[in-house]
Amino acid sequence: MAQHQGGRGHRHEDPTGTERQRIVVAVATGFDAYQRPLLHGMRRVLAAHGIPLIAHADNSSSPTLDPALVGLLHAASTAAVISTNALAPKREAQLHGVVAERNLPIIHIGQDVPGQACVRADNVQGMTALMRLVLDDCGARTPVLIQGLAHQPDHCLREEIFRAETSRRGVRVDESLVFRGYSDLDIVKRELRLLVERRRDMDAVIALDDATALVAMEVLADAGLRVPQDVVVTGFDDYPMAAINWPSLTTVDQNLEEQGATAAELLLKALAGGVPRTQVLIACELIPRGSTAVGDGTLASVPQTVESVTRMACAYLRTQGGLLRMGRALLKCRTLDDICGALPESLAALGVLRAFLVVYEPSEEVAKAADAPPRSAWLLLDYRDGVAQPTPPGPFSSRSLLPESLRGELHLGFLGFQPLRGSQRQLGYLLFEHEQSFGPIPFVESLAMNLSRTLEAVFSTGALAEHSATLERLVTQRTQELETEIGLRRQVERELRNANDELRRSAVTDGLTGIANRTALAHHFEEHWRRHIDERHELAVLMVDVDLFKAYNDRYGHLLGDSTLRTVAACLRRSAHHPDDLVCRFGGEEFLVVLPFSGLPEARTVAARFFRLLADAAIPHAVSPIAPVVTASVGVAAIVPSEHTRPETVIAAADTALYRAKDGGRNQIVVSSATDAPSG
Ligand code: GH3
Ligand code: MG
Ligand code: MG
Repeated sequence: MAQHQGGRGHRHEDPTGTERQRIVVAVATGFDAYQRPLLHGMRRVLAAHGIPLIAHADNSSSPTLDPALVGLLHAASTAAVISTNALAPKREAQLHGVVAERNLPIIHIGQDVPGQACVRADNVQGMTALMRLVLDDCGARTPVLIQGLAHQPDHCLREEIFRAETSRRGVRVDESLVFRGYSDLDIVKRELRLLVERRRDMDAVIALDDATALVAMEVLADAGLRVPQDVVVTGFDDYPMAAINWPSLTTVDQNLEEQGATAAELLLKALAGGVPRTQVLIACELIPRGSTAVGDGTLASVPQTVESVTRMACAYLRTQGGLLRMGRALLKCRTLDDICGALPESLAALGVLRAFLVVYEPSEEVAKAADAPPRSAWLLLDYRDGVAQPTPPGPFSSRSLLPESLRGELHLGFLGFQPLRGSQRQLGYLLFEHEQSFGPIPFVESLAMNLSRTLEAVFSTGALAEHSATLERLVTQRTQELETEIGLRRQVERELRNANDELRRSAVTDGLTGIANRTALAHHFEEHWRRHIDERHELAVLMVDVDLFKAYNDRYGHLLGDSTLRTVAACLRRSAHHPDDLVCRFGGEEFLVVLPFSGLPEARTVAARFFRLLADAAIPHAVSPIAPVVTASVGVAAIVPSEHTRPETVIAAADTALYRAKDGGRNQIVVSSATDAPSG
C-alpha cells in the first residue's frame, strides 16, 4: 500500500469542475513551524486549481473542537477537510463525527486512519538514518530519550525506531534516561534539569521534535555539558530555528511542504469522485549539523551558509520587532475604534495581506459558548489593500464567517482562521491572508494573544461602563419612585391627620347636636377643677331639661324632635359667652352648662338668656299644657371646689334643683339651696 512520492507539484487539469468555488478546510493546531510548510504545500496545489483554502488553527487545551470550527465544517461551502496533525482523542473523534455526518472527503497528515487517505513522513527511514548517525558515527551508548505526546503517532513511531536501532546494536536503553516531555517546553526544561542534576554520563539526547531538542541544548549548556563534545543532540522536523541555533541542530527534514502538497492532490482526486484510501509516505532527509559533529567538533558538514542563517535571523528580528510594535500600539487601545485604528499598520508590518476581525456579541454568555458558537457576530475590521475598509453595519450570523457582502472573500485563495479567546469566553476570530502562508517566522499566536487581551480589556471596560450606566438608571428610577412614594405618603399623612382630628372631635362631640359630649365634660372638669381648688374660686353649673319632650316626640315624631334638640343646644351655646364655658349634652333631652369662675348670679344670667332665646325660637309644642311652644326647666348650683368634693357633687345639686323646677310646674329656673349642695 505505502508508496513513496518524492516529486513536487503534480499538475492536474482541474478535477473539481463545479466544486471550483467550494472551500477546503485545513484543521491545524497552530500556524507554527510545523504547520506553515504543510499549509504552504496545500496552498500551492489548491491555488493551481482555483480552490480556496481556509486553515483553522486551534491550540487551546479545550477537550472539544472550537465551536467556530464545527460551524465552519457544517458550512455549505465547505467541500473537504485536511487534518494536519493528530488531535487529542476527544477532538479527533468529534472531527470524525462531523466529517462523517456531512460526508466530507478528508485527508489525514501525520497519522494512519484505517480506511482513509493518509499522508505521513517516512519516519522509519528518517529515524533510522538519524539513529545510524548517533549510534554509529557519534558512537553514543548512553542516550537520553525525550518522548513526545502519547497520542501523536509520529512520536510513537520514532520512539519505536529508536528502541529497535539501539537494540539491534546491543545498546541497552537505560529507562531512567527516558522521560516524557509532551512537546511542552516548560516540562522538557524542568525534567531534563532534574535529570542532569543526577546524571552526567549521558552521551546523547534524542528529542522527537526540534523545539524540544533546542530547549534540551539550553539545559545542557547551563549544566556545563558541551554539545556536541560531551553530548550529541538531535531533533526532528527541521524547523527554521534548528539552522540558526549555535551549534546548529541535527535533525530530519520530513518534507512537510511535500506532505501538504500530496494531501491536497489526494483531496483533488477525492473531490473528483475517487476516494483514495491510499497511505502515502513522504521521504525524509537527514540534516546533519553541529549538534552531532564528530571528531574535533568542527562544523564542516553543516550545509547552511552564512547568508541563509543571517537572512533567517533577520526575518526573526523583523517579526519580533513587528510584534513588539503591535503590542505597544494595542496597549494604548481603549475602544474598539482604537483597535481598528492601530491594527492596519501592525498587520502590514507582519506581512498580512487581508484580515477580517470578527467579534462575537459580548452579551452572548460564557456558558453557552462552550457548546455552540455565539450566533451573532460583528465585523470590526475589514483590512484590505493596506487600509481599513468601511465595514457593513449590523450583526451577522457567525456561521457564515463574514457578512453577506464580503462572503466572496472566503473564496479568494488562502485564509487563516485564528480563534480569539479571552479568559472567560470566546471573543471572536481573525480571518487573514499572509503573503507567505504565515511564514517563515511564527507570529500568529503572539498576534492572537495580544489581540485577545486587548479585546477583552476593551469589552470589560465597556461592560463596566454599561454596568454603571445601568446603576445610574436604576438610581434615577428609584428616586422617582421614592418621590412619588413620598408625595403619596404626605397625602396619606394629611388624610390621616384630618381623620385623627375628626376622630378626636367626634370623640368629644355629640353627634346629634354638634356640642360637647360627656367625654368633653370630663376633660373640661379635669382642666378646671384643680385650678378652682388652688384658687378657691367658685364654679357654677346649669342642668337643663326640655319639658314634656316625650309628648313632643309622640306628637311631632322623632325627626322633628332631633331638630328641636339641635335648636335647644344652639340656644344654650349662644347663652354662655365666656370662652371657658362649656355646653354639653348630658343625656337624651338634658344638657349641662359649666361656667368656670362663676357663681349663682352668673348662672342665673346665663339661664335667663337661654330662656329668652328659646322663647324667641318659638318651637310649637301643641300638646304642652304649659305653653304653645317648647320650654325647658333649669336647675342651677354653684360650688367652691375642694380636695373633698368632686364635680358630681355640684352636678347632683343642680339636678336636685332641676327636679324642684319640674315639680314647681316646669318652664322655670330653680337655684340650688344650701341643702342641695354641700358647701365647698
Ligand atoms: P319632663 O317635662 O318631665 O322632662 O317630661 P319629658 O317627657 O320631657 O320626660 P321623659 O323623661 O319622660 O321623656 C324624655 C323624652 O325625651 C323621652 C325621649 O323620647 C325623648 N328623647 C330623649 N333623647 C332624644 C333624642 O335624641 N331625640 C328625640 N327626638 N327625642 C329624645
Ligand atoms: Mg329628662
Ligand atoms: Mg324632659
